[in-house]
Amino acid sequence: MLLALLLAVGPVPPEVAQKLVGGALTSGVAYARLQELTDAIGARLSGSPGAAAAVQWALKKLQQDGLAARTEAVKVPHWVRGEETAEILASPAGIGHRLAVTALGNSIGGSATAEVVEARSVAEIAALGAAVRGKIVFFNHTMSAPADYGKFVEMRSHGPSASGRAGAVAVLLRSLATASFRSPHTGLTIYDADAPRVPAAAVSTEDADLLHRLLQRGPVRVRIALGCRMLPDADSANVIGEVRGREKPDEVVLIGAHLDSWDLAQGANDDGAGVAMVMEAGRLIASLQQRPRRTLRVVLFMNEENGLAGGKGYAAAHQAELGRHVAALEADSGADRPLSVRLRTGEGGNAMLAPWLLPLESLDIHLEEGDAGGADLTPMDGALVPLVSVHPDVTHYFDIHHSAADTLDKIDPENLAKNAAAIAVVAYALAEMPATLPRPAARPATH
Ligand SMILES: [Zn+2]
Repeated sequence: MLLALLLAVGPVPPEVAQKLVGGALTSGVAYARLQELTDAIGARLSGSPGAAAAVQWALKKLQQDGLAARTEAVKVPHWVRGEETAEILASPAGIGHRLAVTALGNSIGGSATAEVVEARSVAEIAALGAAVRGKIVFFNHTMSAPADYGKFVEMRSHGPSASGRAGAVAVLLRSLATASFRSPHTGLTIYDADAPRVPAAAVSTEDADLLHRLLQRGPVRVRIALGCRMLPDADSANVIGEVRGREKPDEVVLIGAHLDSWDLAQGANDDGAGVAMVMEAGRLIASLQQRPRRTLRVVLFMNEENGLAGGKGYAAAHQAELGRHVAALEADSGADRPLSVRLRTGEGGNAMLAPWLLPLESLDIHLEEGDAGGADLTPMDGALVPLVSVHPDVTHYFDIHHSAADTLDKIDPENLAKNAAAIAVVAYALAEMPATLPRPAARPATH
């Protein structure tokens, strides 16, 4: 019996496996924390009172959990939304319609009344040439699955600058979403320094369909007014908690998530859930009888959504020790059922880690080939830190992503706890294994 139990947990001591997996599944702490973060603090866009409150809250909780906790200051963009309206104007050809819109993050404010031109890609703007001048560009697309996000996100990030350069007066983007009940989905747009800036907003997928149908029948005029604006950069911080390694305290296993959220909702799924998971993993590991060999560092990044100041600030502040970061994980893919663990590592890394993940067999979570990453980890790309992901089912992730529907009711407490268990086991394994994962090859250049 004892032998069977030992086999089931591999090299992980049974009492550790019990404390990490059993603890996560029964404590209820991750969900209780998420409820505090969402219902009591709420939206946490960089520079907002909610973001400031979240920093203080997280610092206190990490300290309560027995981690050595601190903040590391970062300057963040401070963008505020304001009134936002848009409508299709009535004409002899048809009635008017109010549009469900929301400004893209970091958009300038302003208003415009103009005819609409539909485009299907950023590249198409150049091809349209003079047809765009003085018009509102409407970016339409066919996103229907999570994998489509990467294909179409360029229209949000760079479509407004391409349109401004071509002489457009404003931009409407079909929300990057896999479902909608007429809720527009925001997200970051990035203005090129050399392009005229135009106001840019997301429109609900239903209203995008309406625009498309009307454009098939003739010219459509829209009036749009956005009250958003950029304020001076604000003081904020990443929040860090550590369980110091008992043998190799200089070697660091980083588990992170981002503390900021968009302003339209509570940011429960993006990324309150990730925050709750990595805090719970840190709490459970801090409660073990014996600390792991290496240092576990919980990093709650600020400003992932509209600037990445926290990720960039962390990489810069810790440049000298990134070579001793032996693994890094960011939980930022929601909180649905965890399916697998994936690695970005050198040759042989998967085989090294596999036996240490046996405690996750009971949750049907397996190591699989794939890739790992996280936006806040990209600024440390050059250091070739092995990356790890606990990969949840993301089928419904983009149904609510960056929209007013990202609220606590979308989170299943049991799946949240399973994710926390998986992160706890993965983090413990990486901090305790006798050897460290081989470092991965450099990422192939994308351009
Ligand atoms: Zn996120």
